[in-house]
Amino acid sequence: MSGGDMLDFEIRPNSTPVSAVDRAALLANPGFGRVFTDHMVTIRYADGKDWYDARIEARAPIPMDPAAAVLHYAQEIFEGLKAYRTGDGAVTMFRPEANAARFAESARRMAMPQLPPETFVESLRRLVEIDREWIPEGDGSSLYLRPFMFASEVFLGVRPAKEYLYVVIASPAGAYFSGGVKPVTVWVSPDYTRAAPGGTGAAKCGGNYAASLAAQAEAIEAGCDQVVFLDAVERRFVDELGGMNVFFVYDDGTLVTPPLTGTILPGITRDAILTLAAEAGHRVEERPVSFADWQADAASGRLREAFACGTAAVVTPIGRVRFSDGEFLVGGGEPGRVTTDLHRRLVDVQRGRAADPHGWVTRVL
Ligand SMILES: *Cc1c(COP(=O)(O)O)cnc(C)c1O
Repeated sequence: MSGGDMLDFEIRPNSTPVSAVDRAALLANPGFGRVFTDHMVTIRYADGKDWYDARIEARAPIPMDPAAAVLHYAQEIFEGLKAYRTGDGAVTMFRPEANAARFAESARRMAMPQLPPETFVESLRRLVEIDREWIPEGDGSSLYLRPFMFASEVFLGVRPAKEYLYVVIASPAGAYFSGGVKPVTVWVSPDYTRAAPGGTGAAKCGGNYAASLAAQAEAIEAGCDQVVFLDAVERRFVDELGGMNVFFVYDDGTLVTPPLTGTILPGITRDAILTLAAEAGHRVEERPVSFADWQADAASGRLREAFACGTAAVVTPIGRVRFSDGEFLVGGGEPGRVTTDLHRRLVDVQRGRAADPHGWVTRVL
């Protein structure tokens, strides 16, 4: 790449794409993360060479040497965002430049090279363009895009790798909740934390997820849907779920979410909700919420609603909280009015049904 020019993408179309009939069958009920499109993006990086070999090519296994650094020391980061089909035949994405910026920040934390944000966004656009037939129709459906990058250098020494592979794959996704939004039960892990100060909690890296899986398994074991993590220092304050940020709604209409102090993933949905809630007339606060207060305020009725948010499930009400000594309900276990309203406001912007004063929706095709 020279002089800030965009990398040229070499296009090698899949010579054996899925037939239209088979694709239609797959799109009828894609679920989440099981069906994939015909193509992928790959871009390579090497120290001294910068980013090179940008391609759109047939989705295929990635040959890897057993000594590839990622397999040993987990230098890997990812993103997740959606492409939507709009009523007028256009294709849009929600704040892709925010994902690009976060990807660069995750790369910095993991001592990886930063892909230029415009190359990141263009790579998504190119993949959506070639695989546009894979974008499902219908409200709640979308094409989920998964950009990721890992250390591909063949070397067992412990230092930042000198070679990386950036890849984007795409997966059609149906409505996350079929049959309406159902409140989830969350499990407060007594044993595990997600991220400590100075750690990698604010980076979207696979390692954070690996570290959360034992706690998630514990949650399932306890009959819950998701784990909610407390802070690693005092085990007092609510951080977030394994892959979603958390909000609290009080009886005076105030929305509270934990602050971004480095142990919480800075969600783009979280950021959008903070803005939309303020515009809807709510007071919004970023401040720590202790688990003790969560329980006491839910009991007194001062806390009316709690919800989790993220790209995949958008907004999910939290109806029940279970911990080692008991459990309590939030808002009687039902989805709350503010949660439902903010969910609708966000989806309306994402789907092009509401005004977009912040320029969040990017038309890509
Ligand atoms: C991705 C992610 C979120 C949600 O981020 P969005 O940008 O809203 O999708 C929240 N928490 C964690 C741990 C995540 O990895």
